[in-house]
Amino acid sequence: MTGAPTTVRSVYVHAPFCARRCTYCDFAVTVRRTGDVEGWLRALRAEWSSIEREGLFEAAESLDTLYVGGGTPSLLGPTAMEGLRDIVGRDRVTDSMLEWTAEANPESLTEEVAAGWAAAGVNRVSLGVQSFDDEALRWMGRLHGPEGPARAVAAARAAGISNISVDLIFGLPAGVGRSWADDLDGALALDVPHVSLYGLTVESGTPLGRAVREGREIPVDEDRYREEFLLACERLCEAGYEHYEVSNFARPGAEARHNAVYWKGLPYLGLGNGAHSYAPPVRRWNTRSWERYRDRVAAGQSPEDSREVVSGEAAALEGAWLGLRTRDGIPTPPRGSKEESLASQWLAEGLAVVEGGRLRLTPEGWLLLDALAVDWVGG
Ligand code: SF4
Repeated sequence: MTGAPTTVRSVYVHAPFCARRCTYCDFAVTVRRTGDVEGWLRALRAEWSSIEREGLFEAAESLDTLYVGGGTPSLLGPTAMEGLRDIVGRDRVTDSMLEWTAEANPESLTEEVAAGWAAAGVNRVSLGVQSFDDEALRWMGRLHGPEGPARAVAAARAAGISNISVDLIFGLPAGVGRSWADDLDGALALDVPHVSLYGLTVESGTPLGRAVREGREIPVDEDRYREEFLLACERLCEAGYEHYEVSNFARPGAEARHNAVYWKGLPYLGLGNGAHSYAPPVRRWNTRSWERYRDRVAAGQSPEDSREVVSGEAAALEGAWLGLRTRDGIPTPPRGSKEESLASQWLAEGLAVVEGGRLRLTPEGWLLLDALAVDWVGG
Protein backbone atom coordinates (compact mmCIF):
# COMPACT_ATOMS: atom_id res chain seq x y z
CA MET A 1 0.00 0.00 0.00
CA THR A 2 1.43 3.38 -0.97
CA GLY A 3 0.61 6.93 0.14
CA ALA A 4 -0.43 8.34 3.49
CA PRO A 5 -3.16 6.47 5.35
CA THR A 6 -6.65 7.97 5.37
CA THR A 7 -7.51 9.32 8.80
CA VAL A 8 -10.93 8.21 9.97
CA ARG A 9 -12.99 9.87 12.69
CA SER A 10 -15.89 7.43 12.33
CA VAL A 11 -15.86 3.68 12.88
CA TYR A 12 -18.57 1.07 12.23
CA VAL A 13 -18.38 -2.30 13.99
CA HIS A 14 -20.55 -5.25 12.93
CA ALA A 15 -21.92 -7.59 15.61
CA PRO A 16 -23.12 -10.61 13.61
CA PHE A 17 -25.16 -12.66 16.09
CA CYS A 18 -28.95 -12.92 16.24
CA ALA A 19 -31.03 -15.30 18.33
CA ARG A 20 -33.28 -15.98 15.33
CA ARG A 21 -33.33 -14.81 11.72
CA CYS A 22 -36.23 -12.50 10.89
CA THR A 23 -38.28 -13.58 7.91
CA TYR A 24 -37.21 -10.67 5.69
CA CYS A 25 -33.54 -10.37 6.74
CA ASP A 26 -30.60 -10.85 4.38
CA PHE A 27 -27.93 -9.21 6.56
CA ALA A 28 -24.65 -10.91 7.48
CA VAL A 29 -26.11 -12.73 10.48
CA THR A 30 -25.11 -15.86 12.42
CA VAL A 31 -27.94 -17.45 14.41
CA ARG A 32 -26.94 -18.34 17.99
CA ARG A 33 -28.87 -18.42 21.23
CA THR A 34 -26.26 -16.13 22.82
CA GLY A 35 -23.57 -13.97 21.25
CA ASP A 36 -19.97 -15.21 21.17
CA VAL A 37 -18.56 -12.15 22.92
CA GLU A 38 -15.08 -13.61 23.48
CA GLY A 39 -14.73 -14.74 19.87
CA TRP A 40 -16.09 -11.42 18.59
CA LEU A 41 -13.63 -9.33 20.60
CA ARG A 42 -10.72 -11.62 19.69
CA ALA A 43 -11.51 -11.24 15.98
CA LEU A 44 -11.93 -7.47 16.19
CA ARG A 45 -8.64 -7.14 18.04
CA ALA A 46 -6.89 -9.12 15.30
CA GLU A 47 -8.52 -7.04 12.55
CA TRP A 48 -7.62 -3.78 14.29
CA SER A 49 -3.96 -4.88 14.42
CA SER A 50 -3.99 -5.83 10.74
CA ILE A 51 -5.44 -2.41 9.81
CA GLU A 52 -2.65 -0.71 11.74
CA ARG A 53 -0.09 -2.83 9.85
CA GLU A 54 -1.71 -2.35 6.45
CA GLY A 55 -1.56 1.45 6.44
CA LEU A 56 -4.68 2.27 4.38
CA PHE A 57 -6.50 3.74 7.39
CA GLU A 58 -5.47 5.31 10.65
CA ALA A 59 -7.92 6.15 13.41
CA ALA A 60 -7.88 9.76 14.63
CA GLU A 61 -6.72 10.32 18.20
CA SER A 62 -10.31 11.11 19.06
CA LEU A 63 -13.33 9.64 17.24
CA ASP A 64 -16.45 11.64 16.32
CA THR A 65 -18.70 8.61 15.97
CA LEU A 66 -18.61 4.92 16.77
CA TYR A 67 -21.52 2.76 15.61
CA VAL A 68 -22.06 -0.86 16.62
CA GLY A 69 -24.64 -2.44 14.32
CA GLY A 70 -25.82 -5.91 13.60
CA GLY A 71 -26.98 -8.47 13.93
CA THR A 72 -28.00 -7.85 17.48
CA PRO A 73 -25.27 -6.14 19.54
CA SER A 74 -27.40 -6.43 22.70
CA LEU A 75 -27.13 -10.24 22.42
CA LEU A 76 -23.43 -9.84 23.30
CA GLY A 77 -24.29 -8.91 26.89
CA PRO A 78 -23.15 -6.13 29.22
CA THR A 79 -19.35 -6.42 28.85
CA ALA A 80 -18.99 -6.31 25.06
CA MET A 81 -18.77 -2.52 24.70
CA GLU A 82 -16.12 -2.24 27.38
CA GLY A 83 -14.07 -4.85 25.48
CA LEU A 84 -14.58 -2.91 22.26
CA ARG A 85 -13.48 0.32 23.92
CA ASP A 86 -10.19 -1.33 24.87
CA ILE A 87 -9.61 -2.46 21.27
CA VAL A 88 -10.41 0.91 19.68
CA GLY A 89 -8.41 2.68 22.39
CA ARG A 90 -9.85 4.23 25.53
CA ASP A 91 -8.49 7.67 24.65
CA ARG A 92 -10.32 7.65 21.32
CA VAL A 93 -13.75 7.44 22.94
CA THR A 94 -13.52 9.99 25.72
CA ASP A 95 -14.43 13.19 23.86
CA SER A 96 -17.63 14.68 25.26
CA MET A 97 -18.87 15.18 21.68
CA LEU A 98 -18.46 11.50 20.75
CA GLU A 99 -21.63 9.84 19.46
CA TRP A 100 -21.38 6.15 20.35
CA THR A 101 -24.41 4.24 19.14
CA ALA A 102 -25.20 0.56 19.69
CA GLU A 103 -28.14 -1.25 18.14
CA ALA A 104 -30.34 -3.35 20.38
CA ASN A 105 -33.39 -5.54 20.20
CA PRO A 106 -36.02 -5.05 22.89
CA GLU A 107 -35.79 -8.57 24.34
CA SER A 108 -32.05 -8.35 25.01
CA LEU A 109 -31.66 -4.73 26.09
CA THR A 110 -31.93 -5.47 29.80
CA GLU A 111 -31.09 -3.04 32.59
CA GLU A 112 -27.82 -4.90 33.09
CA VAL A 113 -26.84 -4.60 29.43
CA ALA A 114 -27.80 -0.92 29.28
CA ALA A 115 -25.82 -0.17 32.45
CA GLY A 116 -22.75 -1.98 31.08
CA TRP A 117 -23.00 -0.08 27.82
CA ALA A 118 -23.39 3.29 29.53
CA ALA A 119 -20.40 2.59 31.77
CA ALA A 120 -18.29 1.85 28.66
CA GLY A 121 -19.35 5.13 26.99
CA VAL A 122 -22.30 4.20 24.77
CA ASN A 123 -24.54 7.27 24.69
CA ARG A 124 -27.04 6.42 21.97
CA VAL A 125 -29.20 3.34 21.45
CA SER A 126 -30.94 2.35 18.23
CA LEU A 127 -33.77 -0.01 19.10
CA GLY A 128 -35.23 -2.49 16.60
CA VAL A 129 -38.92 -2.06 17.44
CA GLN A 130 -40.43 -2.57 13.95
CA SER A 131 -44.00 -2.96 15.27
CA PHE A 132 -46.08 -3.13 18.45
CA ASP A 133 -48.55 -5.57 16.94
CA ASP A 134 -48.34 -9.10 18.31
CA GLU A 135 -49.35 -10.79 15.07
CA ALA A 136 -47.00 -8.67 12.95
CA LEU A 137 -44.10 -9.33 15.34
CA ARG A 138 -44.70 -13.06 15.13
CA TRP A 139 -45.01 -12.90 11.34
CA MET A 140 -41.64 -11.12 11.16
CA GLY A 141 -40.03 -13.65 13.50
CA ARG A 142 -39.21 -11.02 16.11
CA LEU A 143 -38.61 -12.21 19.65
CA HIS A 144 -40.22 -9.37 21.58
CA GLY A 145 -43.86 -8.73 22.31
CA PRO A 146 -45.85 -5.47 22.22
CA GLU A 147 -44.58 -4.45 25.67
CA GLY A 148 -40.89 -5.03 24.85
CA PRO A 149 -40.04 -1.61 23.42
CA ALA A 150 -41.30 0.39 26.43
CA ARG A 151 -39.40 -1.88 28.81
CA ALA A 152 -36.18 -1.54 26.77
CA VAL A 153 -36.51 2.24 26.49
CA ALA A 154 -36.98 2.39 30.28
CA ALA A 155 -33.83 0.25 30.75
CA ALA A 156 -31.79 2.60 28.54
CA ARG A 157 -33.10 5.66 30.35
CA ALA A 158 -32.45 4.10 33.76
CA ALA A 159 -28.82 3.69 32.66
CA GLY A 160 -28.66 7.37 31.67
CA ILE A 161 -28.98 6.85 27.90
CA SER A 162 -31.74 9.17 26.72
CA ASN A 163 -30.59 9.57 23.11
CA ILE A 164 -32.71 6.73 21.72
CA SER A 165 -33.82 5.95 18.19
CA VAL A 166 -36.53 3.46 17.29
CA ASP A 167 -36.77 1.57 13.98
CA LEU A 168 -40.17 0.88 12.47
CA ILE A 169 -40.97 -1.20 9.38
CA PHE A 170 -43.71 -0.19 7.00
CA GLY A 171 -44.99 -1.86 3.85
CA LEU A 172 -45.86 -5.23 5.38
CA PRO A 173 -48.14 -7.42 3.24
CA ALA A 174 -51.77 -6.38 3.65
CA GLY A 175 -52.58 -9.92 4.80
CA VAL A 176 -50.61 -9.43 8.03
CA GLY A 177 -53.41 -7.14 9.23
CA ARG A 178 -51.29 -4.75 11.21
CA SER A 179 -52.46 -1.16 11.74
CA TRP A 180 -49.66 1.19 10.69
CA ALA A 181 -51.42 4.13 12.35
CA ASP A 182 -51.46 2.24 15.67
CA ASP A 183 -47.76 1.47 15.33
CA LEU A 184 -47.00 5.15 14.74
CA ASP A 185 -48.99 5.95 17.90
CA GLY A 186 -46.93 3.35 19.75
CA ALA A 187 -43.67 4.92 18.59
CA LEU A 188 -44.85 8.43 19.50
CA ALA A 189 -45.85 7.21 22.97
CA LEU A 190 -42.24 6.19 23.62
CA ASP A 191 -41.34 9.91 23.32
CA VAL A 192 -37.84 9.25 21.97
CA PRO A 193 -35.79 11.86 20.07
CA HIS A 194 -35.28 9.87 16.84
CA VAL A 195 -37.28 7.53 14.59
CA SER A 196 -36.06 5.59 11.52
CA LEU A 197 -38.40 4.05 8.97
CA TYR A 198 -37.65 1.01 6.85
CA GLY A 199 -39.80 0.04 3.89
CA LEU A 200 -39.98 -3.76 3.72
CA THR A 201 -38.22 -5.14 0.67
CA VAL A 202 -38.49 -8.76 -0.44
CA GLU A 203 -35.00 -10.24 -0.84
CA SER A 204 -34.81 -13.47 -2.84
CA GLY A 205 -32.65 -15.47 -0.40
CA THR A 206 -34.88 -14.95 2.64
CA PRO A 207 -37.84 -17.01 3.96
CA LEU A 208 -40.08 -14.14 2.84
CA GLY A 209 -38.54 -14.23 -0.64
CA ARG A 210 -39.32 -17.96 -0.87
CA ALA A 211 -42.87 -17.45 0.40
CA VAL A 212 -43.49 -14.78 -2.26
CA ARG A 213 -42.02 -17.00 -5.00
CA GLU A 214 -44.25 -19.87 -3.93
CA GLY A 215 -47.32 -17.62 -3.79
CA ARG A 216 -47.79 -17.96 -0.02
CA GLU A 217 -47.29 -14.21 0.54
CA ILE A 218 -48.36 -11.25 -1.55
CA PRO A 219 -46.04 -8.24 -1.20
CA VAL A 220 -47.51 -4.88 -0.40
CA ASP A 221 -48.76 -2.92 -3.41
CA GLU A 222 -47.30 0.44 -4.42
CA ASP A 223 -50.30 2.49 -3.27
CA ARG A 224 -50.29 1.08 0.25
CA TYR A 225 -46.49 1.47 0.53
CA ARG A 226 -46.80 5.10 -0.53
CA GLU A 227 -49.75 5.82 1.80
CA GLU A 228 -47.92 4.35 4.80
CA PHE A 229 -44.76 6.34 4.10
CA LEU A 230 -46.69 9.60 3.67
CA LEU A 231 -48.79 8.94 6.80
CA ALA A 232 -45.61 8.46 8.83
CA CYS A 233 -44.12 11.69 7.46
CA GLU A 234 -47.28 13.59 8.36
CA ARG A 235 -47.70 12.13 11.85
CA LEU A 236 -44.06 12.42 12.88
CA CYS A 237 -43.70 15.98 11.60
CA GLU A 238 -46.94 17.01 13.36
CA ALA A 239 -45.41 15.59 16.56
CA GLY A 240 -42.34 17.85 16.26
CA TYR A 241 -39.89 15.56 14.46
CA GLU A 242 -37.96 16.94 11.50
CA HIS A 243 -37.77 14.79 8.39
CA TYR A 244 -34.06 15.31 7.78
CA GLU A 245 -33.31 12.33 5.56
CA VAL A 246 -35.47 10.05 3.43
CA SER A 247 -35.84 7.47 6.23
CA ASN A 248 -34.96 9.47 9.34
CA PHE A 249 -36.83 11.82 11.67
CA ALA A 250 -35.35 13.65 14.63
CA ARG A 251 -36.28 16.17 17.23
CA PRO A 252 -34.12 19.30 16.65
CA GLY A 253 -30.50 18.52 17.51
CA ALA A 254 -31.00 14.73 17.70
CA GLU A 255 -30.00 13.92 14.10
CA ALA A 256 -27.77 10.82 13.80
CA ARG A 257 -24.22 12.02 13.23
CA HIS A 258 -22.74 8.68 12.22
CA ASN A 259 -25.03 8.18 9.23
CA ALA A 260 -24.31 11.74 8.10
CA VAL A 261 -20.72 10.61 7.48
CA TYR A 262 -22.02 8.17 4.84
CA TRP A 263 -24.33 10.75 3.30
CA LYS A 264 -21.54 13.35 3.04
CA GLY A 265 -19.09 10.91 1.44
CA LEU A 266 -16.58 11.23 4.29
CA PRO A 267 -14.12 8.41 5.12
CA TYR A 268 -15.01 5.70 7.62
CA LEU A 269 -13.60 2.42 8.80
CA GLY A 270 -15.72 -0.72 9.11
CA LEU A 271 -14.74 -3.68 11.28
CA GLY A 272 -16.30 -7.13 11.35
CA ASN A 273 -17.75 -9.52 8.78
CA GLY A 274 -19.53 -7.80 5.91
CA ALA A 275 -18.43 -4.34 7.09
CA HIS A 276 -17.64 -1.67 4.48
CA SER A 277 -14.86 0.93 4.72
CA TYR A 278 -14.31 4.03 2.62
CA ALA A 279 -11.05 5.83 1.93
CA PRO A 280 -12.18 8.07 -0.95
CA PRO A 281 -12.25 7.04 -3.73
CA VAL A 282 -11.70 3.43 -2.56
CA ARG A 283 -14.56 1.48 -1.00
CA ARG A 284 -13.86 -2.01 0.27
CA TRP A 285 -15.80 -4.62 2.16
CA ASN A 286 -15.04 -7.62 4.31
CA THR A 287 -16.11 -11.17 3.69
CA ARG A 288 -19.75 -11.68 4.77
CA SER A 289 -19.33 -15.01 6.55
CA TRP A 290 -18.60 -14.71 10.27
CA GLU A 291 -16.65 -17.99 10.30
CA ARG A 292 -14.50 -17.07 7.29
CA TYR A 293 -13.87 -13.59 8.72
CA ARG A 294 -12.95 -14.99 12.15
CA ASP A 295 -10.59 -17.58 10.68
CA ARG A 296 -8.87 -15.15 8.34
CA VAL A 297 -8.12 -12.51 10.95
CA ALA A 298 -7.00 -15.23 13.40
CA ALA A 299 -4.47 -16.35 10.75
CA GLY A 300 -3.19 -12.79 10.35
CA GLN A 301 -4.84 -12.40 6.91
CA SER A 302 -6.93 -9.50 5.67
CA PRO A 303 -10.69 -10.19 5.81
CA GLU A 304 -11.21 -7.97 2.76
CA ASP A 305 -13.49 -9.58 0.20
CA SER A 306 -13.32 -6.96 -2.54
CA ARG A 307 -12.91 -3.27 -3.30
CA GLU A 308 -13.91 -0.72 -5.92
CA VAL A 309 -12.75 2.72 -6.96
CA VAL A 310 -15.75 5.06 -7.00
CA SER A 311 -15.15 7.43 -9.89
CA GLY A 312 -16.63 8.83 -13.10
CA GLU A 313 -20.32 8.15 -13.69
CA ALA A 314 -20.66 5.96 -10.61
CA ALA A 315 -19.30 8.77 -8.42
CA ALA A 316 -21.65 11.29 -10.03
CA LEU A 317 -24.66 9.03 -9.49
CA GLU A 318 -23.69 8.30 -5.91
CA GLY A 319 -23.15 12.01 -5.23
CA ALA A 320 -26.61 12.90 -6.56
CA TRP A 321 -28.26 10.03 -4.70
CA LEU A 322 -26.58 10.90 -1.40
CA GLY A 323 -27.28 14.63 -1.78
CA LEU A 324 -30.92 14.15 -2.67
CA ARG A 325 -31.59 11.85 0.27
CA THR A 326 -31.07 14.58 2.89
CA ARG A 327 -33.02 17.75 3.57
CA ASP A 328 -29.89 19.74 2.60
CA GLY A 329 -30.46 18.55 -0.96
CA ILE A 330 -28.17 19.71 -3.76
CA PRO A 331 -27.26 23.15 -5.13
CA THR A 332 -29.86 24.60 -7.49
CA PRO A 333 -28.64 24.10 -11.07
CA PRO A 334 -27.36 26.98 -13.21
CA ARG A 335 -29.85 28.85 -15.36
CA GLY A 336 -30.34 27.40 -18.80
CA SER A 337 -28.81 24.03 -17.88
CA LYS A 338 -30.42 20.68 -18.66
CA GLU A 339 -30.67 20.11 -14.93
CA GLU A 340 -32.64 23.32 -14.50
CA SER A 341 -35.43 22.10 -16.74
CA LEU A 342 -35.51 18.80 -14.84
CA ALA A 343 -35.65 20.68 -11.54
CA SER A 344 -38.55 22.80 -12.85
CA GLN A 345 -40.40 19.62 -13.74
CA TRP A 346 -39.85 18.23 -10.23
CA LEU A 347 -41.08 21.49 -8.68
CA ALA A 348 -44.20 21.46 -10.85
CA GLU A 349 -44.92 17.84 -9.89
CA GLY A 350 -44.46 18.48 -6.16
CA LEU A 351 -41.41 16.22 -5.98
CA ALA A 352 -38.99 18.95 -4.86
CA VAL A 353 -38.80 22.44 -3.41
CA VAL A 354 -36.13 25.15 -3.52
CA GLU A 355 -35.02 26.58 -0.20
CA GLY A 356 -32.00 28.78 0.50
CA GLY A 357 -30.49 28.10 -2.91
CA ARG A 358 -30.81 24.32 -2.51
CA LEU A 359 -33.03 21.87 -4.32
CA ARG A 360 -34.44 19.27 -1.98
CA LEU A 361 -36.95 16.51 -2.39
CA THR A 362 -40.36 16.42 -0.76
CA PRO A 363 -41.69 13.18 0.78
CA GLU A 364 -43.38 12.46 -2.59
CA GLY A 365 -39.99 12.94 -4.24
CA TRP A 366 -38.22 10.75 -1.68
CA LEU A 367 -40.54 7.89 -2.66
CA LEU A 368 -38.90 8.10 -6.12
CA LEU A 369 -35.36 8.82 -4.89
CA ASP A 370 -33.51 6.16 -6.90
CA ALA A 371 -35.18 7.01 -10.20
CA LEU A 372 -34.79 10.77 -9.69
CA ALA A 373 -31.07 10.42 -8.94
CA VAL A 374 -30.62 8.46 -12.19
CA ASP A 375 -32.56 11.10 -14.14
CA TRP A 376 -30.47 13.86 -12.57
CA VAL A 377 -27.18 12.35 -13.63
CA GLY A 378 -28.58 11.45 -17.04
CA GLY A 379 -29.43 15.17 -17.36
S1 SF4 B 1 -32.71 -8.85 14.40
FE1 SF4 B 1 -32.07 -7.56 12.64
S2 SF4 B 1 -30.13 -8.41 11.91
FE2 SF4 B 1 -31.10 -9.96 13.27
S3 SF4 B 1 -32.21 -11.31 11.89
FE3 SF4 B 1 -33.67 -9.72 12.57
S4 SF4 B 1 -33.53 -8.07 11.02
FE4 SF4 B 1 -31.75 -9.43 10.75
